Amino acid sequence: MDATATDSPTRRLDVLIEAKRDRFIDYANQVWEYAETRFEETRSAKTLSDALEAEGFQVERGIAGIETAFVASYGSGKPVIALLGEYDALAGLSQRGESSEAEPLVADGNGHGCGHNLLGVAALAGAVGVRDYLEERRSTHGLPGTVRFYGCPGEEGGSGKTFMVREGVFDDVDAALTWHPQAFNAIFSTPTLANIQAYFRFKGTAAHAANSPHLGRSALDAVELMNVGANYLREHVVPDARFHYSITRTGGASPNVVQAEAEVLYLMRARRMADVQAIFERIQKIAQGAAMMTGTEVEMVFDKACSGYRPNRTLERLMQAQFEAFGAPRHDEKEKAYAERIHSTVSEDDLRTTYANIVSAGGEAAEAYVDELDGKALVDDLAPYSASEALMYGSTDVGDVSWVVPTAQCYVNCFALGTPLHTWQVVAQGRSSLGHKGMLQAAKVMAGTAVALLETPATLAEAQEELGSATRRQPYCCPIPEDVTPSPLKG
Ligand SMILES: [Zn+2]
Ligand SMILES: [Zn+2]
Repeated sequence: MDATATDSPTRRLDVLIEAKRDRFIDYANQVWEYAETRFEETRSAKTLSDALEAEGFQVERGIAGIETAFVASYGSGKPVIALLGEYDALAGLSQRGESSEAEPLVADGNGHGCGHNLLGVAALAGAVGVRDYLEERRSTHGLPGTVRFYGCPGEEGGSGKTFMVREGVFDDVDAALTWHPQAFNAIFSTPTLANIQAYFRFKGTAAHAANSPHLGRSALDAVELMNVGANYLREHVVPDARFHYSITRTGGASPNVVQAEAEVLYLMRARRMADVQAIFERIQKIAQGAAMMTGTEVEMVFDKACSGYRPNRTLERLMQAQFEAFGAPRHDEKEKAYAERIHSTVSEDDLRTTYANIVSAGGEAAEAYVDELDGKALVDDLAPYSASEALMYGSTDVGDVSWVVPTAQCYVNCFALGTPLHTWQVVAQGRSSLGHKGMLQAAKVMAGTAVALLETPATLAEAQEELGSATRRQPYCCPIPEDVTPSPLKG
């Protein structure tokens, strides 16, 4: 009898994805090499969209008015299951691949410090796996439905998906799945922080700082006073709020010129978007106060925002079952030795932070699990799952998707235990077989979850009801105003 017809979906997806592993690894390495930052991921988006076209997907490029966003579809009709892929890099993290010491390849160059080269390709590989599975079963089972890969640019500080949600590209999607490379295996079950990012541009009057200081109106003074005001505000905000700033324009290198122009970028976060908006209003008043104090003018330029992540417990339980079926990535001696070398470069504090992340993702059950990790350099199993309400003190633009479509995500182990994200260690391991194995496993878990949703409409309906009942009480409102467009890193 034909094995393709009798094998379980887990077994078939494993075989189908493994059959194309070299191809997928090659795409991940290409995206790693390009290391393009937000909304400038031209070559990365081309590699991935061309690959999907070659696999028989129908591709639409430049969606939601973003040049590097695209959607690739296979199949027809409902349900529509989306796999979300990212492919943007970070500035200043250039690093040699597969190395175990900090070695930039290019001074001040970019690097895939969040592993998005793996993230995007795993979602692509998962979508291709589902396509191949459906093709095989077409004659016997003829499953209806569509699998889509969404090419989502600008996750790092860009909120690409929030713009895409605003433009309605997910409106007919029934469920969305994604993942993130990590130093452990778990379901991403925690809510995240909503945020708003905005520039404050001050305009004053230049003058000779010694000869005619009374004629100068310093924009840099205004930035400094604004920051002082904001730092005093910290005591009077909700406990889960965070805000950070970066002086993006100082007004020049000359102390003997009163700075006529200066700019500061504020990133404000809290669990509830309403709290972020309240903080944003107060920060705007502080900016106006700083302008009044200094006799300058201020203009606020809204940059971007994203909503907090809304976990879908129905989908998480399904994804955990799929993760258990496929298992955690397995490693050979060479990979274990590499992980040992990387592990020796991470601090005790980093290790503790990884443990804390596992516990916050897995709740009480994960505490005993973490105790067993002591002394290990590499995780080889899956953390227990429980629906966690603990807050992850970070933000992701998957948040906005999760408000309009039932969404689930997992963490898959790609790095030595204790590896913190946004570091050279992630860049190095993202170009190694450690990262590639995690990527392929993530592809299988997402593909398995997608196939399970296509085969069991009742679970999909349950996931949709879960989201529906939550958003009936609290409807979604896109936090980015209509007239704001995505901005690249070097705007
Ligand atoms: Zn990141
Ligand atoms: Zn990331």
